[in-house]
Amino acid sequence: MSIIDLTLSANTEYARGFSLGNLAMPPSRQLAVLACMDARLTVENFLGLKTGEAHIIRNAGGIATEDALRSLVISHHLLRTNEIMVINHTDCGMLTFKDEELKTKLARQTGKTVKSPAHFHAFSDLERNVREQIQTIKSHPWLAGVPVRGFIYDVKTGRLQEVYAAETVAR
Ligand SMILES: [Zn+2]
Repeated sequence: MSIIDLTLSANTEYARGFSLGNLAMPPSRQLAVLACMDARLTVENFLGLKTGEAHIIRNAGGIATEDALRSLVISHHLLRTNEIMVINHTDCGMLTFKDEELKTKLARQTGKTVKSPAHFHAFSDLERNVREQIQTIKSHPWLAGVPVRGFIYDVKTGRLQEVYAAETVAR
């Protein structure tokens, strides 16, 4: 049995006891979360969120890419979320490579160069990366004024630590 077949069996079980068919489309906590896709992060669990309460947008690194911004704009303007959390985490795979090296390696392996993805958004400084994503979101004209806070999740302890703006730390 493939892994996908196993997940389908689990879904059959899930649907048997399903009772969430009447939830509203807008997230009830009016919260949007941008987080890394790392398999060790179960965002709903570590934030105490239930189905229907928040938008969870995930990609490699928890990066405010064009597509993440697209989702955040829709989340805020069409589905009324009012606060945004950016969550990166310790031991992130994005700290382990460099964009150019990976591009070169994949081009060599496949014999092909590609236009998209143009960037992998690998990074070397976790806190700085969180600050950059906050800045990217805050500076988007269609998200101006929405509170954005950033955090690092520790995969060893399950704890979140807030990343403050650089000027706050310097004070
Ligand atoms: Zn990660």
